[in-house]
Amino acid sequence: MSVLIFAEQEQGVFRKQSLEAASYASAWAQAQGTTAEAVVFGNTKSDSLAEYGISKCYMINDGPSERFEAHSYAWAIAQIAVESGAKLVVLGASANAQSIAPLLSVHLKAAFVSGVVSMTESSTPMTFKRTVFTNKGFSQTEVTSEVAIISLSANAYGLHPNPVHCDTIEKNRAELQDQAKTTPGAVDKAQGKISIADAEIVVSAGRGLKGPENWGMIEELAQVLGAATACSKPVSDLGWRPHSEHVGQTGKPVASNLYIAIGISGAIQHLAGVSASKTKVVINTDPEAPFFKAADYGIVGDAFEVIPQLIEKIKAFKSQNA
Ligand SMILES: Cc1cc2nc3c(=O)[nH]c(=O)nc-3n(C[C@H](O)[C@H](O)[C@H](O)COP(=O)(O)OP(=O)(O)OC[C@H]3O[C@@H](n4cnc5c(N)ncnc54)[C@H](O)[C@@H]3O)c2cc1C
Repeated sequence: MSVLIFAEQEQGVFRKQSLEAASYASAWAQAQGTTAEAVVFGNTKSDSLAEYGISKCYMINDGPSERFEAHSYAWAIAQIAVESGAKLVVLGASANAQSIAPLLSVHLKAAFVSGVVSMTESSTPMTFKRTVFTNKGFSQTEVTSEVAIISLSANAYGLHPNPVHCDTIEKNRAELQDQAKTTPGAVDKAQGKISIADAEIVVSAGRGLKGPENWGMIEELAQVLGAATACSKPVSDLGWRPHSEHVGQTGKPVASNLYIAIGISGAIQHLAGVSASKTKVVINTDPEAPFFKAADYGIVGDAFEVIPQLIEKIKAFKSQNA
């Protein structure tokens, strides 16, 4: 019996969501007296996984193409789960993990519980607390299958270092009888930017910015804070910003530690995608803007006056504390 995670890496660096999965798996393994193990596609140093309690890494040699393919990845993970006797498979909150989960569930005849926010409260039967209704409530979900698959809600469980030694087992993808049903084509990735999914801080702006020519100050604020930039749906629909920055119910979900919303009214569809962020700061000229009801801190003011001052203050603070 073990607990297995799917550890996603990008250019040799494990994603924060995978390190959260490692933290969760290692705590679960300690409580159950078992080991936390990981499946990794591609050759990557396992040091950071070992830092978060993973003691065995199955490295799948991905061959010439390291592109994600759901059927093939799910099949490989399922075979390793059987080999390692995994009772629990832990996934992150990424789009790739979400597309693997149902396939894995079929292969392992295992229940799948999404959006888990805390450590299991009971192991017989396994019971998980998860978010429901776009983060408006929680439910306790009891699993009746022998094996369970869970995906974690981003930034909910957090990172908990627990350094251990990690053994590496090399696997060849061919040995795992590749089940690929699609051939990935070109993948266009935003270059040189902090991804919204992994960002600690997100600076987001809406139609209150009036036009794309005014995004210089948003980018500068993001740069001084080391933040990712995001926007509301109409902003990307109007072509002011790329669609990759659209957040909300129909865009990317945000679960950052700090979310700064500038000139965004706070429509329900926007809030649905950002409510998992821990601290929300709203800057808006309209004191009646609905976003203020969901905010932890608010500034009623004109973004064109507030943002330049904020940038100056942060720069001054950073240089004093350098
Ligand atoms: C099915 C469906 C799905 C949707 N999905 C999404 C989604 O995923 N994400 C999303 O964002 N929206 C989504 N929407 C759209 C959503 O309903 C809102 O229309 C949208 O979020 C509004 O964007 P906004 O706040 O940028 O613009 P507006 O509603 O126009 O708000 C602009 C705000 O800027 C403020 N403002 C104006 N000037 C300034 C200034 N100088 N300084 C500071 N503040 C200023 C105004 O007071 C106002 O509150 C969806 C809608 C539907 C119907």
